[in-house]
Amino acid sequence: DRASVAYFGAGPSALPTSVLETAAASLINHGNSGLSLVEQSHRSALSSKILQDARENFLKIVNASAETHTVLFMAGGGTLQFSAVVYNLFTAWALKHPDLAAKGQRGACEYLVTGGWSSKAADEAKRLVGEENVNVVLDARNYHHAGEAKKFGNIPDAGEWKGNLKAGRDSAFVYFCDNETVDGVEFTKGSPLDILGEDPDRIVVADMSSNILSRTFDASKFGIVFAGAQKNIGSAGVTIVLIRNDILTLLTSGGSLPPKLTPQIPVTPVMMHYPTISKAGSLYNTLPIFDVYIASLTMAKLLQRDPSGKTALQQQEDESNTKAATLYNVLDRYENVYHVVPAKSIRSRMNICFRIKAPGDEAKFLKGGEEIGLLGLKGHRSVGGIRISNYNAVSVESVNKLAGYLEEYAKGI
Ligand code: PMP
Repeated sequence: DRASVAYFGAGPSALPTSVLETAAASLINHGNSGLSLVEQSHRSALSSKILQDARENFLKIVNASAETHTVLFMAGGGTLQFSAVVYNLFTAWALKHPDLAAKGQRGACEYLVTGGWSSKAADEAKRLVGEENVNVVLDARNYHHAGEAKKFGNIPDAGEWKGNLKAGRDSAFVYFCDNETVDGVEFTKGSPLDILGEDPDRIVVADMSSNILSRTFDASKFGIVFAGAQKNIGSAGVTIVLIRNDILTLLTSGGSLPPKLTPQIPVTPVMMHYPTISKAGSLYNTLPIFDVYIASLTMAKLLQRDPSGKTALQQQEDESNTKAATLYNVLDRYENVYHVVPAKSIRSRMNICFRIKAPGDEAKFLKGGEEIGLLGLKGHRSVGGIRISNYNAVSVESVNKLAGYLEEYAKGI
């Protein structure tokens, strides 16, 4: 049963049992309506309330205001946002610089490529606007430690890449992935923003799919933050997009539907057009309200953390840091058995990626874990190895149990 397993899957991932129990009851009979939540209209009063609660919970947790930011719920996963940010923000650039757009220019989009997901996002931008309009500010494959060139696993200091940034005026946006789920690297809190925030004209976009709600961040520094729900927030099916209202206003000035501005600015498909989704209150089409409900329940639970003078998110951050430190401490203690892949200074607190040094022993490690209920530890198919995903719903007990196994396994060798 659930109590006997500890699940470390990378996404979809563990969710609080109490949330699943409430959601399960709603799947049969939501709020005593006699109907399942998945049978209800997405435009019913009941669905509106769920959406409203989810929006409010999210803004409250991340300490952002509805006066400055709007929360959108969209389908299509994080991957749809790879395309959506490009379409919308090139359009925004052209609306902001009609003189330059009329001359056939379109600005550049700028990417910090630090792992598999930001690499995919940059590739999508290249497909949509052409390689010549994508400025790869940093390719972290060139910086891997321990001689593993051409692999992700390190992020150099900003001094190495800040000189590659264009001036804000020439930049449609700059993009980074705050936590790389596959490669196990995470930006030190706030670090890219220290550089990117220097130019008020620059719109900063962050993919926080795999570390959202695990630490505080300053929403005011971001133009767009997006995160698929299926790691720290809920089930697969909805993506949360936090967008600055002035960007929405600028985009709306292009018309209520996506405009064709100049030949070199691609027209945004309507399902990705942020103002259209915003104007419809995220209900331009049928949204999976059940997934929004799960997300809202998880966020409500996070908000219920005992008030101890610290916000819910600060408390979650402390817990995430402690759990990650517990695991890295064991891995570091047995350096002869385990090799943590990323460089120490940028190790992810969410996705802990390591190898078992003895050739061929990873299958044995995974099997031994499964036998005692430690599941979901296999590394991503593209890089192999072991990956522990330490998301919010992974309990301290689960982490301690895994730390115990890591220790025993190392001693047994
Ligand atoms: N970005 C990151 C950081 C991710 O971890 C993932 C999925 N694991 C994605 C984007 C893509 O998300 P989706 O599968 O929801 O499209």
